[in-house]
Amino acid sequence: METEFRSGSAIHNCSPITHLYVHIPFCARICPYCAFYKERADPSQTQRFCEALLSELEQRSANSPIATETIFLGGGTPTALTTTQLGYLLGGFRDRLDLSALQEWTVEANPGSVSPRKAELLRSVGVNRISLGVQSWDDDLLRLLGREHNAAQAEASFQILREAGFTNLSVDLMFGLPGQTLAQWEATLEKTIALGPEHISTYCLTYEEDTEFFARQVRGEFREDPDSDARFLESAMRMLESAGFEHYEISNYAREGYASSHNRGYWAGEDYLGIGPSAFSTIGLERQQNVADYRAYSDRVLAGSSPVSSTEILTAEMKRGERIALSLRTVRGIPSVELDPWPEERREFEELGLLREVRGHCVLTPQGKLLADSVAAAFL
Ligand code: SF4
Repeated sequence: METEFRSGSAIHNCSPITHLYVHIPFCARICPYCAFYKERADPSQTQRFCEALLSELEQRSANSPIATETIFLGGGTPTALTTTQLGYLLGGFRDRLDLSALQEWTVEANPGSVSPRKAELLRSVGVNRISLGVQSWDDDLLRLLGREHNAAQAEASFQILREAGFTNLSVDLMFGLPGQTLAQWEATLEKTIALGPEHISTYCLTYEEDTEFFARQVRGEFREDPDSDARFLESAMRMLESAGFEHYEISNYAREGYASSHNRGYWAGEDYLGIGPSAFSTIGLERQQNVADYRAYSDRVLAGSSPVSSTEILTAEMKRGERIALSLRTVRGIPSVELDPWPEERREFEELGLLREVRGHCVLTPQGKLLADSVAAAFL
């Protein structure tokens, strides 16, 4: 397989891009496990950064038509921006984008930075889905994770969003945390179900290089425990499915009609445009990444230059491998014909009870979901 890196070129595309990701890198506090590109917000820089984002959107629109079906503001913490800045930024998106086909507009929110005024503003500009980073309902675990909120604040934020009129709320949870017991995890799932969100994401903690948690793992203070992680995942599958959520992707559960369209597009290998520092875009066989430094990003964009720092040309084999890995994580699986080049691997996984065929698609069994990455690796 070949990977070619170049710098600074623009993707030109004729068919409209339908999925837009926007990276807001600011956080009130830096969590010790987090490997995303993020920085403590500097109030003297954030308005200039919002101007740069709108400027990048204009640059990109000149190269590729954008007919947005889904928008996802992630980070970082988009709600770390002030209400005025969010109004300026999201109003700017409305003015510059064709939103006639918009289905889903998600904003990630941190329970520590949700207010009635901010929630009202988000609703008024057309945001129709909020992903709330609760992580746990246990205050001791929230402290361990270095989060700025506690459980009571998270519950209050959820209610503020409901009262502002949001009918599509997602709650993010984490499992496999140091010292977390199965009973604590099940209590967190119960509390989340009782709150009544339309969507729940459950992520297993991973120890990423260059994080404080990774250093603590290297020192032997924390250790990974795949058997325990599997039990946490099994509990989530059992409890959330019996509460009426469909397990539509390894980390995601939704009530009927509330699966995330943005994520489904990404898992289906559709093109997407990412703007903001560190954001990736994939259009056809070209994948670009923006510079992962918001000051350099703002300088470049506001001077009329491209913020792209690297471009990778994907081979057809790389695209196929990604499509198989991502599709296998979903409830629909992968069309069986796509696994024809690997008859022995497929038979072996079927005999082990990890994979089965459903209406012409290969899907992971509940046991296979526990080993999804290993199964997908066999088809690369
Ligand atoms: S709030 Fe989210 S993006 Fe920010 S440091 Fe914590 S985990 Fe990372």
